[in-house]
Order: sequence, then structure tokens, then C-alpha cells
Amino acid sequence: MRQAQERKRQAAPGVPHRAALSPPSEGNQLFVVLQRQAGNAALGSLLDGLPPEAGARAAACLRSGQIPGPALMALQRQAGGATTTAPATTAAPGGGTAPALLRIAWINDLPTFIQEQIDTFSQDVLSKQTLRNELKLLGERFANRVTFMNTMRDRLFGNDVATEAHYREIKPMANAMGADEQLWAHVSTRERLLQVQQDLKAQKTPIPQTSVALGLRGDHLHPEGKSAGWFTHATGFAIDWKAHAAPHIKDPKLIALFETVTGGAPHLDLQMSIKDRLDLIEKMGQGKASQAESAVLLQRVEAEYNRLVAGSQKFKTDLPETSLAPLGEVEAARTALAAAQAKLVMLRRRHGVKKAEIEAAADAITEAQGAFDAKVKATEPLLPQIFEPWTKLLDARIEAIDKEAQDQGVDLKQLVGDFGFKELGTALAAIRRKALPLQTTAKSVLADVIQIQQQALLIAAKVEAAQAWLEAPAPRTPDPADAAQWSNSLDEVKGDLDALGARLDPLKASLGSLLPGAVVEPKAPAAMRPLAVSNAVISALRAAFDRLPDRVTKAEQTLDPISKKLSAALGEASSKQKQIDDATAYRKQTVEALGGPGKAGRAKGEQAVAALLEKKVKWLALRDAKKSLQTNVEAFVFKAKDVRDPGITQLLGLMSGTRGGGFFTPDPQTGGEAEAKKGAWSDTHGFNLAFVKSMISHGFEWGVAWKGESDTMHFELVEGRRLLESGGSRALTAGAELKTLEVLGSLF
Ligand SMILES: [Zn+2]
Repeated sequence: MRQAQERKRQAAPGVPHRAALSPPSEGNQLFVVLQRQAGNAALGSLLDGLPPEAGARAAACLRSGQIPGPALMALQRQAGGATTTAPATTAAPGGGTAPALLRIAWINDLPTFIQEQIDTFSQDVLSKQTLRNELKLLGERFANRVTFMNTMRDRLFGNDVATEAHYREIKPMANAMGADEQLWAHVSTRERLLQVQQDLKAQKTPIPQTSVALGLRGDHLHPEGKSAGWFTHATGFAIDWKAHAAPHIKDPKLIALFETVTGGAPHLDLQMSIKDRLDLIEKMGQGKASQAESAVLLQRVEAEYNRLVAGSQKFKTDLPETSLAPLGEVEAARTALAAAQAKLVMLRRRHGVKKAEIEAAADAITEAQGAFDAKVKATEPLLPQIFEPWTKLLDARIEAIDKEAQDQGVDLKQLVGDFGFKELGTALAAIRRKALPLQTTAKSVLADVIQIQQQALLIAAKVEAAQAWLEAPAPRTPDPADAAQWSNSLDEVKGDLDALGARLDPLKASLGSLLPGAVVEPKAPAAMRPLAVSNAVISALRAAFDRLPDRVTKAEQTLDPISKKLSAALGEASSKQKQIDDATAYRKQTVEALGGPGKAGRAKGEQAVAALLEKKVKWLALRDAKKSLQTNVEAFVFKAKDVRDPGITQLLGLMSGTRGGGFFTPDPQTGGEAEAKKGAWSDTHGFNLAFVKSMISHGFEWGVAWKGESDTMHFELVEGRRLLESGGSRALTAGAELKTLEVLGSLF
């Protein structure tokens, strides 16, 4: 066991044996710094004693990624290369045993834009720190870069070399918005986007502007629970367009509402399995799909695109003017607030602005905020009336589902599905977790109470043995006066024991209910032979008893403050358990009623219940949507501007700064010819049907096709996603030509 631990310790990089640290030489000082960066706090504390110039040297090394030979060798030895005699200069291809500093050295060559995403802070911030804080930040940077390498190797690309090659091929595309508005994407994605641009140019429409593609968003630091497909932005394969007018819709309430108002879902139903769709799009991008199969998909895209645009428009105009007007007033107040905030920002940036002017601008914000809040508050009571046309539609759908269930003799409220059971189980576990420390305390009190009783029973047994001896003393007879006094004393102790027992009774009753099933009484001791009495025996019994009352008091005082809380928690737990039992019984009963006898009947019943549960999910979403519309719960109606599950006013197109808002508000089909001709990216044109079809034809999946979580702004290169999902074993065909051009361009 110990040997195994020892081996483990030696094998773990970055956790050196303490004894390995000789008095600090320059290399060792740096080494300590580096260990600290690797998160070894115990070693890190040694850094506190470093002279400032050693810290400066370490910082310089970390900044440049260059480390002195001796420290490098020490690092390599720590990483498992015990026989290292000269510093290596390149990372091992697998990256597995290469020292962290070598694995990450290449990141220093990447453009600042990418480095800062890996680091999660800017180099500007880094440059403004004191030496000490800079060291700390450099440490974070070191750790983040190593985590980045691990995530990329273990989850997406298979090895360090592939990771490095991939990120070296991520570059900015020159779009129309100036130097600081560029689109950073992998060469595969850039090549296809250039092809889309050419394609659109021939159709006299410009490629729409965006600067949202590469985005690590911290996901490399927290990859837990995320699938490989999650990382398409992190790897420069995905691009978002016009997020506020093409938002990501995941909220079941919004989906139910859109369906209710427009008659269709907010995702594109392409009537293909996901795999077939991705296979076809990938082939289309590679020019390998047949004309016929491409045409079928693109026609379907066109029909669904038009349905979605029309649906979004209907949603915006469905309510009467009288309903929209008060909502518009809230948005006007929000716009005024945003203007006031923008003014202050502008004044602060400008030089030579008088303090009074700044203060006035700040006051204006407070005032505008007050006006906005008041407007929201005044409008909320009107919501049931404002949304009445919609809540009537929602009610009709809720009732239809209710009726369908009732016709089968089922009460949907009582029917619980897997998700519901999981929720109930989680709630029960939470209650039990809360009760656990209280139960531990109660158990320790119980242990005391048992011990006290054991002592008391032992004393009682001795008293009885003494009394038995006094009845027939042998071999000698005591002095009668002594005997009378002893007998009194024994009666006294017995009386005290009875009183103690009476005090223990409520404690035992309480413990019995707080710790169901617990035994609260000890076994009685065996009867004793008569015990010869003396003064010493009497005072020993008295002394033994006298220790007990204080212990009872302590037990009472410990149990008292938790007993109410624990019994409440037990009550909650048992009612939650009853809910689970009732739901289980109801479900079983429903399966039997809808199915029939035998195995076949059971299967039929399960199927009918599954169908009803699916209805119930929708039923719940419809009910929640109604309630949220009427009460603005969780700012459902008046949520601030958002690209994910926006509020109703944004979806109604009433919010300023959202490019028309809505579920899907693309650009017009025509216009922007001049920009198209110049090859310029357009901020006002081009996000239209021609663009969407061209993107799909060039191998991009459109996120709006994702049922239940339509990501309308989002496109991703199918080849790219599949490369990530294969753990780097699948090759890309996209980007080969552009890559060659870029390599040649760098040579001449
Ligand atoms: Zn996206």
C-alpha cells in the first residue's frame, strides 16, 4: 500500500517530494515559483521568502516562456524523466510526459486575441500589475494554459501536436467593420465562408457582418459535462449572426407560446434524422451530394425558413394595438434609461468634463431607472388583460390535453414521469441531507442517554443487592443503628434514581421519534448477589449517582435546540416519501388500466402512459406560459435584452437595439448590391434566405434545426463538429486550399 502511494507520488507531475528541494539556487527558486503555479500551495509558501530579484527573474521567465537550463532539467525530472541530463528543446509528440512549460511554450506565438481567450484575462491587465500580483496572474495564466492543453488533447484533438496545428490555423478574416471587428475562425471555416461570399456575390447579395466566431468562453477550463459538440465556438468552427434578431430559444414556455400563437414550432423541421441531415450537409459542402438530394433539403429549408419568418411576424402583430401600447411604454422607459447610461459613459470618456455635468448625468440615470421601474410596476397588473387573447388560446390547448387524459380516465396532475420522479427524489435527498447533522447530534445524545441509564441500572442493582444483604446480613450482623441509617440512605438513592428515570422519560420519547427505530433503553444488568453494606459502600453509591443528574441536563440542553428542526425535517421527508409512493402507485394503476393483463398488456399500458406523459410536458409548459405572461414571473415579459430566451417585449419587436427582435427577423432578400460587388461584409443586408441556403450548401449546420433548443443565430461546420466528436481521428477536407495559400504566403 505504502509502496503504491510512493510510486503514485513520484509519477504525478508537479508534485515533487519535499526533500527534493535543496536550498534555493536560482533554478530552484524558479522551480518553486513554477510549482506554485501548478497549484502546489505547500511549496508555494516557500516563495514568500524569496528576495524580490528572484521573483523578478521568475516573472521574466514566465513572461517569455524561456526558462534557464537547470530549472528546465529539474522540471523534466519531476515530469518523470529521471535520467535527464540536458534540457530538451521540444515537446514530446504525445505531450504526455513533456513538462508543462514545454507543452504550452507555443502559445506565446499565437495572436494576442487567442492567447487572451486561453488566459481568460488580457495582457493589458497583466501589464498593469505590481510584480507580486503579476506573478500571481502569470501563475493563473500558466495553469489555464496547461488546462487548455489537457482539455484539447483529452477531449477534442487527441494530442498536443494536433491542438497546436489547429490553433495556428485560426486567423482573422478581414470583414467590413474595421480593425478591432474581425471574424476569427479556423482555416476550414474561413475557406467555406469565402466560398459562400463568392456564391452570394454572384447573386448580388453581400455576406452579412458578424464578429462572433472563435470563443473559448472559459469552456476549456470547465469541460465537465460538456460534449465535444459543445466546443465548436471554442475551436473556431462556429459562427453566430444577428443574435438579438435570431435568438437561441430553449425555454419550453416560449416554445409552447410560439406554437400556440403561430401554429408551428420555432425550430426548422427538416424531416430527416439528425445523422442523415448532417451526412447530407457534409457531402454538400464537399461537392459530393447529388443535385436531387441537395434540392430536396434546400426546398425544405426554404419552406421552413418562410414559415419561421411569417410566424415571427405574426407573433409580433397578433395582439391588438391596445395591448401593445402599454408594453411599448415600458420599452420607451427602458430606452430612455439606456440613453442616460450611455451619456454618462460618454462623458466619463471625454476629457475636461465638469464634475457637475457628470453628477447631473448620474442623477439622470437614477431618475430614468425610477421611471422604468415604476412603469413596469404599473403595467404588471394589466398583463392578464393585455395577454388575454393569448391566454385564451393557451387555455384551449390546456383543456384539450386535459380532456384527452380524462377521456382515458387519467388525472394528468397525478401522473408523474421520470423527470418528475427525479425531481421528487432530489428534493427528498436534499431534505435528508439537511437533517443529517441534526441526526448525528441526536445520535450522540442517545448514546449518552443509554450510558446514563446503564449507570443508573447498575446503581439500582447494587442498591437492591445491598437491601437484600440488610434483610439477612451474613456472615456478621451490623450495628442496628448503622443498619437503619444505611437502609434510609439506600431508600434515598432509590428515590433519586426514580426521579432521574422520570426526567429521562421525555428525553427517551423525543429521541425515539427523532431517530425512528432506535433502541432507547439498554439491557438490564444481571441480578446481583447480596452485597455487604458499609459506610464506604453507601458513599460510593451516592457518589456514583451524583454524577448522573448533570449528564441528563447536558443531554436535554443538547437535544432541545435541534429537536424541533429535526422533527420538521422528518415530517417533510415523510410527506415527500408519501408523494413518491402515491405517484408510483398511481402510475402503476394507470399502466394497468390502460394496458391489460399479461406482458403484452403491460407494454401497451406503458406506451399509453409514455404518450400521456409527453402530453403532460407540453401541458405544464402551456400552463407555465400562461402564468408567466400574466405575472411577469422571472421577468418573462420584461426581461432585459438577451440573445437566449428573450423576454416577450423583445420577441414582440418592441425593444430598441435588437434589430427588430422577434423569434427570427432576418434581413430583406434584396439590397446591398454595392457591398456585394466590393466584397464588403454588410451590417444591414445579407442575412437572408440566399445566405442560409449557401451556408448549408457549403457544409454548415444551422442551429435553428435543433428541436427544443433552436439556436437560430448559430452555424457550424459539420466536418469540424465531427472532427471534435471523433477525438481528432477524423480528417478535415475543408480548408486544404486556403491552408496551402497561407503557407505559401508566409514563405514569400
Ligand atoms: Zn453559436
